[in-house]
This record gives sequence, C-alpha cells and structure tokens, in this order.
Amino acid sequence: MTTRAVTLVARTSAVEETKTLAGALAVLAEPGDLIVLAGDLGAGKTAFVQGFGRGLGVTEPITSPTFTLAQQYEGRLLVHHLDVYRLDQLGEVAELGLGELLDDGGVVLIEWGDAILPILPNDYLEVRLMYPPVGDDEGGSSGDDDRRIVLHAVGPAWGRRQVSLLHAIAPWAEAPKGSPAGQPGDRPVEGGGAPC
Ligand code: ADP
Ligand code: MG
Repeated sequence: MTTRAVTLVARTSAVEETKTLAGALAVLAEPGDLIVLAGDLGAGKTAFVQGFGRGLGVTEPITSPTFTLAQQYEGRLLVHHLDVYRLDQLGEVAELGLGELLDDGGVVLIEWGDAILPILPNDYLEVRLMYPPVGDDEGGSSGDDDRRIVLHAVGPAWGRRQVSLLHAIAPWAEAPKGSPAGQPGDRPVEGGGAPC
C-alpha cells in the first residue's frame, strides 16, 4: 500500500482569507495536480478556486461552473475548474474526459469532487470547507464568515509536499485543542507560527 494520507486543519474568518490561503497553496501546484473540493453549498468552494486561480496568475474572472460543468483558465498552469453538483450519473462525469484534463499538464479542481471519488485517481488534495459547529468558539467569536478548512492529502503527489503544505497554511493553522499558549476562543496563530 503506497497511499499516504495527511490531514491539516485551517480556519478563515472572511472570504478574502480563504482566497489568500488558496493562493498560498497554488504556489505549490504542479502539472497534473488534482484538487477535490468538498463542503456544503455556500461553504466557499468556488471562492477557493478563485483564490487558487489568482495565485496562479489567472486574470480572467473565475465564476461558478455549475451550468457549464467545466471551465478553463490560463495562468502559470492551465486551470480546469469543474463542478459535478448537477451530475447524478457517473457516466456523465466520464463524458467530461477527466483523464485527458489530468494529463494535459494543468491543474484540475473539482467542486463536489468527493461525490465521484470512485472514478478519480487515488492521488489528490481534498479541501473540505466547513462552517464551524455551533458552540465551537467557546469565547463566542464565531461568525457567519468563519470557515474550517480541512486539507487531506491522499497519495504520493500531495503527500510528498506535506511539509510545504504545512508551511503554506501556517498563518491560518488551527490551534490544537487545549493548546497551553492560547486563551479560550483565541483565533488560530497568525503570521506563520513556530519557526522551522
Ligand atoms: P460554494 O462554491 O461552496 O457553494 P461559494 O464560494 O460560491 O460557495 O460561496 C461562498 C460564500 O460564502 C460567498 O458568498 C463568500 O463571500 C461567503 N464567505 C463568507 N466567509 C467566507 C469564508 N471564510 N470563506 C469562503 N467564503 C466565505
Ligand atoms: Mg461553487
């Protein structure tokens, strides 16, 4: 079994923060990368892609591809942005020609991609955007714009970049529960965390 899974957790408290985090991850992007975006409607999947595209130098506005299924943008790497929300048959997904998209040297980001994992290569970064659970903030600072972002690196492509991933999300890294350094309700560490 060669598959390794690494999980990292971040928090943002504004859409721009999520975009900036995504842009920091885009710096690590390599040809053929697959990013699976998961999370409820309105959680910020499209916002993440917008920030990721910005990080890759895409200047064209990135919009939700819900009705077009797939859109391409030119940046440092070609960005293939897919949304499989409407697809209820895996056969329809097959028609998207995912294999070719992954092979053409660009980066593929799939909103609701967790619904089609059986037909995806077992080598991807899952980005799961979540609303923090009610009562999670202890100090009462949680708001509508807070998101918990769980990164799950599955397989070798992202697994070997886990240290870079850790550094990229450090400004938004979630403080471990019961961290001695923090007061209850403290925001996650800003500004890079511990030196390395
Ligand atoms: P999805 O693609 O998951 O359905 P969108 O990215 O289209 O979600 O929408 C996310 C919405 O949530 C936007 O209106 C955005 O402004 C808002 N928002 C508020 N706070 C955040 C945050 N921290 N991260 C991402 N989006 C946020
Ligand atoms: Mg969307």
